[in-house]
Amino acid sequence: MPVAAPEMHLPKRVAVIGAGIAGLTVAHELARRGYLVSIYEANAEAGDFFRSTRRAASR
Ligand SMILES: Cc1cc2nc3c(=O)[nH]c(=O)nc-3n(C[C@H](O)[C@H](O)[C@H](O)COP(=O)(O)OP(=O)(O)OC[C@H]3O[C@@H](n4cnc5c(N)ncnc54)[C@H](O)[C@@H]3O)c2cc1C
Repeated sequence: MPVAAPEMHLPKRVAVIGAGIAGLTVAHELARRGYLVSIYEANAEAGDFFRSTRRAASR
């Protein structure tokens, strides 16, 4: 009788480095597909360049 590979029963986990537009987008899409996503961001806030453009626009 065939035995299933152990990894077939593990949740799909992904680490995303950087919470800029690209990182947040891929994290969102993978989460929708059932992946368990962890985002690692060097800054205190997410968004990076997008966040800086919003600050400049609000002045
Ligand atoms: C001057 C300028 C003007 C622009 N104007 C436009 C425009 O008008 N329209 C447009 O569509 N695009 C524009 N762009 C391009 C757009 O800003 C970028 O394409 C977009 O921000 C890239 O997003 P990103 O998520 O790839 O990178 P980023 O927004 O740079 O995010 C990367 C994130 O990863 C984090 N990070 C990096 N390394 C690590 C690490 N080792 N560990 C943890 N975190 C890490 C950073 O802190 C950052 O938060 C412009 C870019 C520049 C520089």
